[in-house]
Parts: sequence; C-alpha cells; structure tokens
Amino acid sequence: MSAVLWNKINYIRRQAFFEDRFSWEEGVKELYNEFKQIIGSATAQQIIRKNDFAWKSFFKLKRLQSKNKLPSNIKRVSPPRNWKDRETGKRKLMTIIRRDCYRIEKSSKGKKYLVFKGMRIRITGKAKWHGKQGQLEIFYDDLTKSWHAYQTVEVEKPRAKGDKKAFVDVGAICLITAYIEGERQAIAFSGRPLLAGWWYLSKNIAKHQSVLKRVNDGHSSKRLRKLYRIRQRRFRHYVNTAVHKFVELCLKKGVKTIFVGVPKGLRENNDKGKRVNAIVHNFFSYRHIVERLKITAENFGLKVKPVDERNTSSRCPYCGSAKFVRRGRLFKCLKCGREAYRDVVSALNIALVSMKPSKLGSARSRLRGAEGGGFNWMLAHPVLLRVEKSLEAQTSP
Ligand SMILES: [Zn+2]
Repeated sequence: MSAVLWNKINYIRRQAFFEDRFSWEEGVKELYNEFKQIIGSATAQQIIRKNDFAWKSFFKLKRLQSKNKLPSNIKRVSPPRNWKDRETGKRKLMTIIRRDCYRIEKSSKGKKYLVFKGMRIRITGKAKWHGKQGQLEIFYDDLTKSWHAYQTVEVEKPRAKGDKKAFVDVGAICLITAYIEGERQAIAFSGRPLLAGWWYLSKNIAKHQSVLKRVNDGHSSKRLRKLYRIRQRRFRHYVNTAVHKFVELCLKKGVKTIFVGVPKGLRENNDKGKRVNAIVHNFFSYRHIVERLKITAENFGLKVKPVDERNTSSRCPYCGSAKFVRRGRLFKCLKCGREAYRDVVSALNIALVSMKPSKLGSARSRLRGAEGGGFNWMLAHPVLLRVEKSLEAQTSP
C-alpha cells in the first residue's frame, strides 16, 4: 500500500508536469487522508515527503542541466519513477518508517532486532555510522529474496586534523597508488584479486548468455541478472573497502587534501558488460572509484581535488625528462637512469603537477633525495596494503 500511495501521488505530479501545471498541493490532502487509515499517518506523511524530495531533486537537476552544469555521472534527467519493477510490472515492496516509530534493540547475546508496529525482526549486517537515528527505508529485493533496510543517522561533521597532502593515482592493476607528503614510501592497494574474480564471473555470464541465446531467444533471465549483480557488488565492496582504508590512513597521517589524477579523454563507462572482451574496460570503473573516494573523504572531513593527469605518466618525476622506457610495471628514465614503479611515477607526478611551477625544482630535488642523501629507492616502490583479510598477503603488486 506504500507503493500504491507513492504511485498515486507520483502519477498526479507526472500528469501535471507534462501538462505544464505542476503544483505541490494537488491531491496531497486527499491521498494523505485516504492512506493514513491504511498505513498510518506517520508513514503516509513520510512517503509523500519522499516524493516531494524526489521532485525537488528532479527540478534542481533540470536547472543544472539548463546551465550545462550536470554532475558527470548523470547522463539523463527524468521525472521520478513509480515504485514498480520495470520488467515484471510488479509494485516494489517498500516503505518508510519515521524516526520516532521504530527502535533497534540489542539482545544479551549481541543479536540485533528491529522493533516496529508490534513486530520484532532480526537484523544482520553492521551499521557504518552511529548517531541520532533518522528514518528507516525498508524494501524487498526480488532477486535475492530478502528484505533490506536503509537507516539515516545524523552525525557531526568531522574535521581533518592535519594539513598534509596526499597524491593518488587510480588504476586497474593498482586500484589506488598514493604518496602522502613527508612519507618515505608510497602505498598501493592491488586490484589483482578483484580482476581475477571479475574474469571468473564474466566468463560465467558469457556462458549463461550463450545458453540464453539458444533457448530463450536472447532474453535476460533471473540467473543472469543475479550474476551481474554479484559481479557489481563484489567490485563495489572491494573498492569501498580499499577507499575506506586509504581515507582512514590519510586521517591518521594528518592529511587534509587528497589530489587525484583525472585522465583526459577517459573511455566512457557503460557498465552493462555485454561484451566479454570489454572486461577490463568495464572493470576499470574509474569514475566509481573516484566518486567513492570523494564521498568517503568528505565523510571524514577531507577534501578531494582533481588534477589533470595528462602528463603524469609521460615524464620522469626526478629529472623531468620525457625519454623513458616501460618494462612491465616498471618505469626507467633514459636520462637520469632512475627506475620506479609505474603507478608510483604517476602518483609522484600528480604531486608535481599540483604544485606551483616555482616550487617544482626544489620538489624534484627533494624526490631525488639530494637533501636526504642518495636516491630514495624506498619511494620508488610502494608498500602493498591489503584490502581484505581473507586475501593472502602479497609482497609484490
Ligand atoms: Zn629521470
């Protein structure tokens, strides 16, 4: 019935919008009075409010679009949709519980329960944030046949304690390679364990697709959608964990600003995964990684600044020469003869690019170790940090 209310109010608004007579009031009072008897006044109010937000956000995006200022991850702006599965036509089982209408209890054994409307439901999973509880959104996932809840919490805005800078290169082989100002060595999170899993799942997807082609006229299946979902979830989970660990490290080291290299002319990212040979292309969901980095850093009170990456891997960070050779993951300068790990070269160059030209010379000599005595070999090779405990310790990227 929550979905019915949403769809009804949304229908009125869509009609009005397309006929160019949109109003916030139309139908609201009537629908509220009708539905408060069925789903309770608090939930009816929450759903109408959520629909308000959805429309407000739509209008805001339209304004941005007209000024050509849409965020890069948004391609199309369309009015809020109905709570309905587009393939099956079934209503989405979803509702919103107001912040004062539920509670989360912990049993003596540490198990957690959601208590509302005379129900007590066991919950699993860890809360990422702690603070004053906000509303709870509950929905049923048809693909996994399970119920999920999103809870909003109010937290105080954190502030960075230090004023250091960190420089980040994002890639597929090394998910994150970073150099934190003042450190002896760069760090990296490997992307290889993720790539392996991605290949494996993609093979399964391709196999299943070819079966579907023969028996189901090329149509999708639940199994196929599930495989896509698993692949995407694993990718996101891995990226989230790596990004989280990195931001925590930055916080510990007193970083305030994270500079991240943005490749120019980056291939567009369609993550539908139709072609197997496009795996790496899909895998390297660069935008997603940077977006996560931005959001996570902001959550911890750090800033993220993009740096044009155009020249960051085509120059030697130590002497500035553009003559070099690449051997596998290694970079060797033909002028000064220094060797370094390729992703570290990018991270160091991002550091140099984000600096004022007048400071470049002294920064380069610092990198060369002229002041500390001798070339900093340590810096040229990153420490590999582990993303997940279950993955074996790695000594080389
Ligand atoms: Zn050089």
